[in-house]
Amino acid sequence: MPKSYAPEVIADNSGKWCGNQLRFATRKEAEENVFDLSMRWTSVRETRVVESDEPVNYSYVDRKLRAVEEPKPEPLICCICEQPIPIRHGWAQGNNAEPVKEGRCCYDCEAQVVLPARIARLRSAGE
Ligand SMILES: [Zn+2]
Repeated sequence: MPKSYAPEVIADNSGKWCGNQLRFATRKEAEENVFDLSMRWTSVRETRVVESDEPVNYSYVDRKLRAVEEPKPEPLICCICEQPIPIRHGWAQGNNAEPVKEGRCCYDCEAQVVLPARIARLRSAGE
């Protein structure tokens, strides 16, 4: 079963189908969207809707295009201070808390607890 439906158009002499980044949950939405596109974009010669494996990212209802919001994941909880781990650079997993604890920890705990513990371990291992 396809995950989504993607509109495609032929808009020049090449005869090539080209798509955009829009992926709809239903064939009807994709057809309406590409039909309206062909009304506005005079160089469109042909339109079609193809099945896509990509996740749905837009809806088209009453001729309005809306981005589908991805559900936000629950933040991870730091296993040391039990505060939510902030997202940095799109990364929500924080840091490895070992050897202090098994699990993920926040950036403060990494700097103040985990790194000193690792250094202490290295030192004692070297002695
Ligand atoms: Zn923490």
